[in-house]
Amino acid sequence: MSALSTYLSDPFLNELYLQIRKAGSLRSISLDLTHECNLRCVGCYYFEEGMDDIVDKNSNLDNAFHELIINEKKRGTNFVTVVGGEPSQRLDRLKIIYDNFKMNVATNGLEQIPFEGFENMPIGVSVWGDHQTDAKLRNNGKRDLFKIALDNYKNDNRAFFYYTVTTDKSHEIESVVKQCIENGNEVLFNYYSDLRGGNDKRQDFEKVRLEIDRMIDLFPGHILTTSYFNKVITTGKLHDQHWGYEVCTNVSTNYKNNEARLKNGNAFNPHFLSYNADFKTTRRCCTGINRSCDSCFDAWEHFSWIMINMKSHLTTKQSFTGWLTTMYMFYYINGLVGKNQKTNIVSQIHSLLQSYEIEL
Ligand code: SF4
Ligand code: SF4
Repeated sequence: MSALSTYLSDPFLNELYLQIRKAGSLRSISLDLTHECNLRCVGCYYFEEGMDDIVDKNSNLDNAFHELIINEKKRGTNFVTVVGGEPSQRLDRLKIIYDNFKMNVATNGLEQIPFEGFENMPIGVSVWGDHQTDAKLRNNGKRDLFKIALDNYKNDNRAFFYYTVTTDKSHEIESVVKQCIENGNEVLFNYYSDLRGGNDKRQDFEKVRLEIDRMIDLFPGHILTTSYFNKVITTGKLHDQHWGYEVCTNVSTNYKNNEARLKNGNAFNPHFLSYNADFKTTRRCCTGINRSCDSCFDAWEHFSWIMINMKSHLTTKQSFTGWLTTMYMFYYINGLVGKNQKTNIVSQIHSLLQSYEIEL
């Protein structure tokens, strides 16, 4: 009996595994839907690296967009992570993605993505701290963006809050989480890195990690980050690997400067491309061109790191559980599994992970 079949004799693990298999494998890309945004957040990777400058404002972007959709469908892409710029500024393009692919979108929450035509779209609404912190980081304290986003997505079961936590604001976590939950939304954590010379280091997230684990204990049915995932991101460790460019799995496979990385023997996503908002060119990865990988704590990239490295998780049942629950959460967040049983299964996953410590 293989290790996998042994682990899958556990009925709960088997149930998670079957749901994922039924949903199918993902051939994903990331796409900047537009180079425009109605905010200028402190340390936004998009504007910090001048990715909006790649777009020739006089070119016919709509034609290029339509061509890209046709080509990606031909190439077999079935999942698109929509980023930006601010996607809510281009609902016409967003609708085309929604109608053609499995997908998710990240928005700053300032303008609501309407229901009509977008009924089941997984929407990650950004928040960067409690009202004052969030407003300060995202629009110089001018408007209470968190309140606007809460109002826009109240009891909207398409939306979860994508909460980027800064190392020095772990004391705000409980308040933010409670407000999201009271608003009828779930919470997925992200980990802030200030590209304007801030000095957040991975090891500085220890307090954040503990606080997130406490939130999982307090609100297990509403937190989409697992303790395993929290540990991987905050330590940057996965078995014999340490996070960085050499192990990062989501790098554009057609990007010349990535050639050596793709040949170094570490696993990667063979389908992945990260498109700029000109809809023609790709860049190194979705979060940057030249940015230092040491400052990359991005949750989506770490999801991919774990998910693609299934093999190294087959050594023990605990390790396999870490992999499987990460996969499940990713599929769940993106509306691909667990539709009719959500709160219950999320709680069950947290409670299972609590029952043992997983070695990284
Ligand atoms: S809302 Fe997003 S794209 Fe716009 S400035 Fe903020 S982080 Fe950047
Ligand atoms: S910045 Fe992050 S996503 Fe981009 S190559 Fe580096 S580690 Fe990977």
